[in-house]
Amino acid sequence: MVISKPKQSIAEVITVGTELLLGQIVDTNTQHLAQEMARLGINCFYHTTVGDNKERIIACIKAALKRADLIILSGGLGPTADDLTVECMAKALEVELDMHQPSLEHIKKFFSTRNIVMPETNAKQALIPRGAEPLQNDTGTAPGIYWDVQPELLSKLNIECNRIMVALPGVPFELKHLFKVQVTPRLMQDGEAGSATIYSIDLRHYGIGESALAERYADLLHLSNPTVAPYAGHGECRLRVTAKAASLEEAKALTKPVVDQIIERSGPLLYGFDDTNLETECARLLTQKGMTISLAESCTGGLMSKLLTDIAGSSKFISLNLVTYANEAKEKMVGVPSEILAQHGAVSEECAKSMARGVRLLTSSVIGYAITGIAGPDGGTADKPVGLVWLALDTENETITKELRLPSHLSRKEIRTRTAKEALNMLRLYLV
Ligand code: ATP
Ligand code: MG
Repeated sequence: MVISKPKQSIAEVITVGTELLLGQIVDTNTQHLAQEMARLGINCFYHTTVGDNKERIIACIKAALKRADLIILSGGLGPTADDLTVECMAKALEVELDMHQPSLEHIKKFFSTRNIVMPETNAKQALIPRGAEPLQNDTGTAPGIYWDVQPELLSKLNIECNRIMVALPGVPFELKHLFKVQVTPRLMQDGEAGSATIYSIDLRHYGIGESALAERYADLLHLSNPTVAPYAGHGECRLRVTAKAASLEEAKALTKPVVDQIIERSGPLLYGFDDTNLETECARLLTQKGMTISLAESCTGGLMSKLLTDIAGSSKFISLNLVTYANEAKEKMVGVPSEILAQHGAVSEECAKSMARGVRLLTSSVIGYAITGIAGPDGGTADKPVGLVWLALDTENETITKELRLPSHLSRKEIRTRTAKEALNMLRLYLV
């Protein structure tokens, strides 16, 4: 009995650029391509980064051809001498480069519509390896390349099946656009994609560390389909639930019972899914409840206000944002009594409460919110170290306060960022 197995493609992403190796830019193209590949159900076994060096790029391409069915290259399609990708693709397979006239016309037009004479060097971007297909790039000059490489060309590398090689520009929005409109449909058509789909959902938690989260969900971490994995970063934690199935619907259905269970067990520690963030959640809850807020910030210098006003439509729920940095501002703008400042200091529960009440009473907002603390690196004492922060949330009926003791080794920037997140989380918990 012959059992026909669905094709299971293996992909490799090669990003080209010395600036990537030097850490001067972050390789977001690999991240994007890897996520797209997962979505298409293509396994990605290797991510390679190589500098702008001919021999090494060729070596990487040859190695990838041996171990992957689909090779996607990013970067090095520009007109300058260090843009070597296409030339190396051709060299690796010992084929000629041909001038592709329609691509050349497209590049000429790109310049003429901007009233610029095309530099001679840009003609190089219309060179395409013989047998490969140029992908018209509506967002830039260099065409991408889609190449269904036939076994005849691969026999010298002792490879028996065909391979697909794709080259995309390094500029992230050009790469994303070309991958979406030109590459994905071809991969679907060529049967590289679609044999399985991988679906994952991130369950975002705040107020619990990665190891505590892992411990709490130890019983789920050994599951195989879906898998559950914890990820930490920027003071918060995610649990990612991933399933693989023939269709997106089936994969989602596999994750559902596990996701439901985590929602139930995490309670208010879980604040949202996928790309959401604390400020979006706060904005959603404030809008839903028809509540307004005014803020008086000190050590965060307006960061919480900034995050909340990043949300479109925030004028519906924000009445006033003040940065009352100096003691004088705390006294004059939000009416903190000088006795509080003299007795307890600006970084104290009393001062935070008074700021929150004061800013609330300046407008008719439902909530007054205040942040005061020591962001460092100087200004800490044994009593009040760097990282000490007081948060206060004031309404007509109650005042809630919270003391943060952030690690004093954190940088000023990290302390301010963590404080703003903690403040947003306290607001969120009040609202739920
Ligand atoms: P250009 O025509 O601009 O030279 P290119 O296709 O030759 O484009 P590169 O020169 O490699 O691409 O990169 C162009 C720019 O795109 C880089 O300066 C960098 O800002 C960005 N870039 C390149 N590779 C990546 C990557 N892997 N991740 C994120 N950004 C990248
Ligand atoms: Mg370049």
